[in-house]
Amino acid sequence: MKFLSETFAIRTERGPQFIDITERVLETVRASGVKNGFAVVFSKHTTAAIRINEAEPHLISDMEKLLASVVPSGEDYAHNRYAHADSTNGERPNAHSHIQHLFLGASESVPIVAGQLETGQWQRIFLIELDHGRDREVVVHLIGE
Ligand code: ZN
Repeated sequence: MKFLSETFAIRTERGPQFIDITERVLETVRASGVKNGFAVVFSKHTTAAIRINEAEPHLISDMEKLLASVVPSGEDYAHNRYAHADSTNGERPNAHSHIQHLFLGASESVPIVAGQLETGQWQRIFLIELDHGRDREVVVHLIGE
């Protein structure tokens, strides 16, 4: 049984933004030599999520709109008042990003079979930026043999 952990960096451009990271994950799986097991794909951030969905541009636009309509950025949030009240606390007025993340989640687990990601025809793995464009880190933790 192997346990391998790789972290890769991604520069995002805006929020919300869906970034297809499937090929990066697959490269990590191939380089590891793991043939059977699973990959945990994990975002190290509270305002950037990991989700599996379809990479159809109109659908992505629909999903970005939905996130913004369910949890709009312009509401009165306590986290934003706290961030504005004290510029030394390291917080940003990004409550909507954290709350959108709450509904999405930080990770997905994907089976690895015969050295490939055992995903369905339309399934792609996305890092979803929910804050502004910035540097992000994604962990691919592999367990298998
Ligand atoms: Zn924050």
